[in-house]
Amino acid sequence: MNLAVVGTGYVGLVAGTCFAESGNDVTCVDIDERKISMLKKGTVPIYEPGLEEMVRRNAAEQRLSFTTDLDGAVKKSSVIFIAVGTPQGPNGDANLDHVRATAMGIAKAMDSFRIIVTKSTVPVGTADRIRQWITEETSHPFAVISNPEFLKEGAAVEDFMKPDRVVLGGDNSEALEAVKELYEPFVRTGNPILVMDSRSAEMSKYAANAMLATKISFINEISRLCETKGADVGEVRRAIALDRRIGPHFIFPGVGYGGSCFPKDIRAMISMGGDEAEMVLLKAVEQVNQRQKGILVEKVNRHFGADLSGLTFAVWGLAFKPRTDDMRDAPSITVIEALLEAGAKVHAFDPEATNEAKKIFGERIQYASRNYEALPGAAALLVLTEWNEFRRPDFLRIKQLLKQPVIFDGRELYVPLDIRKLGFQYY
Ligand code: NAD
Repeated sequence: MNLAVVGTGYVGLVAGTCFAESGNDVTCVDIDERKISMLKKGTVPIYEPGLEEMVRRNAAEQRLSFTTDLDGAVKKSSVIFIAVGTPQGPNGDANLDHVRATAMGIAKAMDSFRIIVTKSTVPVGTADRIRQWITEETSHPFAVISNPEFLKEGAAVEDFMKPDRVVLGGDNSEALEAVKELYEPFVRTGNPILVMDSRSAEMSKYAANAMLATKISFINEISRLCETKGADVGEVRRAIALDRRIGPHFIFPGVGYGGSCFPKDIRAMISMGGDEAEMVLLKAVEQVNQRQKGILVEKVNRHFGADLSGLTFAVWGLAFKPRTDDMRDAPSITVIEALLEAGAKVHAFDPEATNEAKKIFGERIQYASRNYEALPGAAALLVLTEWNEFRRPDFLRIKQLLKQPVIFDGRELYVPLDIRKLGFQYY
């Protein structure tokens, strides 16, 4: 089938490439000319494990192409996916400007029936709005399907190729059947394709992210109580994770959630609920997260005092999570800004996110090209992202390189007792 995917970011590029991998002819469209020209040369502008090799292979086999020409892509495609960004608007709501511009562009280019599939995370009711926008522009028939995306950055290709479930919302059975067929190759092991109305599909995505963010804020709240009462949250986590009703996932305490989805999606839900269905729990989830992002610096201040001038801090991990270069709303930004504000210097290392970090901090911090390189002369080490390579470092080397053996572990990577035995002050 000929497909177009509009928006060639973390979601669109992965979706387009995976659809090409299963034999479709896919045109990826973006307004960002720089991105498209890189992709035409086989360079993937983001870091996502396994993606670049797949992009190159499918492009070489001429099933995957890149363009800024939406009109041409719509004319040759029967199904068009919308995967553009839906950033946070001024009141916390999701900004639909890119979705609207794309829908209007598709409507203008259509010359017969088209299936338009929304992959972007959009507020409940957006499918109806898209229908209306398109109807205002064209008299050609069309169907709108809501198909929220559940992939995780860092494992996006794997998630797309083996989804836990696929959710499709809409009421045009022919169109639903056509999109279902596109997903059949990815659900051969029996994971379901759930078909529902578009509002429920749109809500499913927000509800999933809300649940995950709630789990993170929940364990962070417990960790705070553990600290005041002298309990070890690591032990507590292990104890509750073995309860099958709770499970081990997403209950690691840390410096809070970040990234391109949770923060904006939680705020969009709070805005969606308004006064009519006030999102009391999600407001608390957000509040706990905001507080949590400041917690490590509070500990730094308690150890070193409020004025950090003259001190350098080594930071391991800048990306909002491992296996991505994404820095959007990363907790590291809050932590580093607070350190700089208190007069400290920062020497940071991240395996993939340095270029993205440079766009945020510029020359205000120093960047190391290896993790141990960030340590010499630093007063302490702060670990902010749980990259695998930080899990079992050479602690004796860390001790030799740091001015004082102090570690602020923002991701519960190390066992307090073990690390204290090595002579570290461990927070
Ligand atoms: P992104 O910022 O990485 O990519 C969006 C792309 O859309 C950009 O390349 C941008 O240039 C392009 N774009 C914007 N307006 C356009 C237009 N009018 N025409 C063509 N291209 C246009 O965003 P993303 O992380 O891929 O997220 C896309 C959507 O998917 C968002 O709604 C997000 O909430 C949702 N989502 C993201 C993830 C994730 O992990 N990143 C997971 C699930 C869902």
